[in-house]
Amino acid sequence: MAQESIENIKGAGQEQGDVKYQSVESINIKKVFRGDPGYNNAMAIYIDNEPEGKDIEKMVRDQLKNQHWWMNEYWQEKGFSKEQVDIRVGESEIILYNFGETLSTAHFEELKKAMEDFSRVDGGRIFNKKVAYILIDNERPLNSYTGEESRGHSPGRDGAIKIYPRGTELGDYREEETTNFEGTSNFRATLIHEFAHPMQDMTGITKKWIEKFGWSILSFQKRKKLPGGAFKDYEILDPKTCVSEYAKCDPWEDVCESVAAAATNPDSLDPKKLLFIKNMLLKNNEPLPILVTPKDAEKITLPKINPEVRYKIIKNKS
Ligand SMILES: [Zn+2]
Repeated sequence: MAQESIENIKGAGQEQGDVKYQSVESINIKKVFRGDPGYNNAMAIYIDNEPEGKDIEKMVRDQLKNQHWWMNEYWQEKGFSKEQVDIRVGESEIILYNFGETLSTAHFEELKKAMEDFSRVDGGRIFNKKVAYILIDNERPLNSYTGEESRGHSPGRDGAIKIYPRGTELGDYREEETTNFEGTSNFRATLIHEFAHPMQDMTGITKKWIEKFGWSILSFQKRKKLPGGAFKDYEILDPKTCVSEYAKCDPWEDVCESVAAAATNPDSLDPKKLLFIKNMLLKNNEPLPILVTPKDAEKITLPKINPEVRYKIIKNKS
């Protein structure tokens, strides 16, 4: 499925003093056909069979909610964000909204470090293409692998990374299971870990990683149920090459954990994995200039998209 461009995901009205959540019902939607003006940039709705009037309208509004976090009741019910931080990474702009505990000076320093660290990874392309928002949540969901509190969640189609209270802690990352991240905070490494998920989709690194580092898929009978309830479907030939217990869960988590280690504590990472990341992701990449600007409380605004949305129907090939 074609990926929506980040310009369609991002709100355009951040500077206009929008202090109310834009509701999905307030959006005027209009179907366009091939040849109509705006067809190419219209939001694509993929369907198997053409549904009738009301159903298609619901599909369009559901998709708008999937792509724009601020149109979701989940965030709307939390009320207004307490903090907004504008982050410039090279030419890209990312906005952090905080719905949790107020950030400290140390948090701002760690945030800046994480942005700097990841701006070197694959030239920071995700900040142009995949990540538009960082949302600090006040909920404490459990991780489906470990059964423990989650630290973060990678962006879905809304381009928004979610960081939970545990992922904002300033103590060493994963100190309950390893000393490999000594001196690197939960906040910094969690951000890097979550940035690394969309990077994997963009670069295709994981397919190569699976072959190179001996990951294999477990047969149905051999899958193991983990404490969080999810099944472990993959295993690695040599688990000692994993920088944390969590990296042993599956190849995608292994890549995220390894990238976090390569950026912060390279000596802790298996040398072959470090070399692979250096060659594939860090080649000649200097950190981009980072500007972190907290907004004054009275200047906080919410994102908004143009309320005239055009959509087109695209039939899935069967
Ligand atoms: Zn992860």
